[in-house]
Amino acid sequence: MSRYKTISLGVGLAVMAALVPLTPSLSAQQFLPIQTHALNGGVYWVEGGVGSNSGVVIGKDGVIVIDAKQTPESGKAVMAEVAKLTPKPVTHVILTHSNLDHVDGLPGFPKGLTIIAQENCKQQMEHPRNNPQNIDLSGYIPTKTVAKKESMTIDGVRFVLLHWAPAHTSGDLIVYLPDQKIAFTGDITVMRLPYPLIHLEDEGSSAGWVESMKGIVALNADTYIPGHGGSQTTAELQQRMTNTAARREKIKELVAEHKSLEEIKKELGEPLAPPAGAGPGFPAFTEVVYKELSKSRS
Ligand SMILES: [Zn+2]
Repeated sequence: MSRYKTISLGVGLAVMAALVPLTPSLSAQQFLPIQTHALNGGVYWVEGGVGSNSGVVIGKDGVIVIDAKQTPESGKAVMAEVAKLTPKPVTHVILTHSNLDHVDGLPGFPKGLTIIAQENCKQQMEHPRNNPQNIDLSGYIPTKTVAKKESMTIDGVRFVLLHWAPAHTSGDLIVYLPDQKIAFTGDITVMRLPYPLIHLEDEGSSAGWVESMKGIVALNADTYIPGHGGSQTTAELQQRMTNTAARREKIKELVAEHKSLEEIKKELGEPLAPPAGAGPGFPAFTEVVYKELSKSRS
């Protein structure tokens, strides 16, 4: 009996351990004040609630939202912000990737919308391991998927949807508005940590991150809105890319010298524990690159 209990507890902990890396902000569920910021040409971004930033694009007949935040309540808050801006209905949601802090707010939106995502994002949303909050996403699974690059006009607004390579996840999608020169870049460009967060469990890639950032910088948008945090400039993203690519090269050299992860971290002056703010269980950039390169070497 007691042995059985121990075993089931062990399984429970194993399940929790498996889920922790996929739950970006479960420890920070606080509902932050909603603030809507106006950009140009009928484009806005909504900060606050729980989870990611959201974008709002007002078209001729309807509204296109980018990312849905983390909870249905936060999704509803975005709907309420849209209602303050226009009586037009929300018709589309475009997702920058599958992390729950960007998709679990979808049930706060009406059912029957056109939901657009990169094809791997759709697959990840359908996988139970990506739904630790047990949110019912039926009716919110992407109805249109994009593989690499697609230009489309929605409600009279021109969009370019871009995916270069797996980066933050394998299902990242950049939303570029060529007429307004605004790009919504999801979590590829988030700068909460000294180096980018790569989800290996969602097939992200540090080499793909560098490739994707080259594409993002080459857009030369006037304004970049990341998945978290305030607006960014091309120069800031260029700097982030250069620093990260240099760091990756340095780690690569050390891996080639057969140094251990601990030795590499020491040499780079990094704490051996994961960085604060990465969330529980998230490996630091150095560990991600180390894992990728030692895997390809073996
Ligand atoms: Zn996020």
